[in-house]
Amino acid sequence: MFKELILEERIMFCPNCKYEYKLGIKKCPECGAELVKKLEEPKPMARKESKFVFLCSTQNFIYADFIKTTLEKNNIPCLIKGIGGPMYPLIPLERPGIYVPEEKYEESKKIKEQLVDNL
Ligand SMILES: [Zn+2]
Repeated sequence: MFKELILEERIMFCPNCKYEYKLGIKKCPECGAELVKKLEEPKPMARKESKFVFLCSTQNFIYADFIKTTLEKNNIPCLIKGIGGPMYPLIPLERPGIYVPEEKYEESKKIKEQLVDNL
């Protein structure tokens, strides 16, 4: 009973290794970092993450991938999300949609238009 309680008392964490350690240990034996009582939760939403906006839809995933690669070469991260299908009355067949960060939208649009011209 008591033994179990002690085992539960592993409330120190290494911020680097994410290992748990027993209370009382101050430094991580693995990397020497100061242990912390709580691991910082990664907060992807709370950070200044870009809001992705819809750029365009494409004929197929090959073309979507081609646009994605080109945008990424221009340091614009982008997402491909399927749009259409039963949930979209106007687009009965699912096709890939390209999403880019809001602040990169204008830039992305230009790049995309150039691509379309070149095809
Ligand atoms: Zn460590």
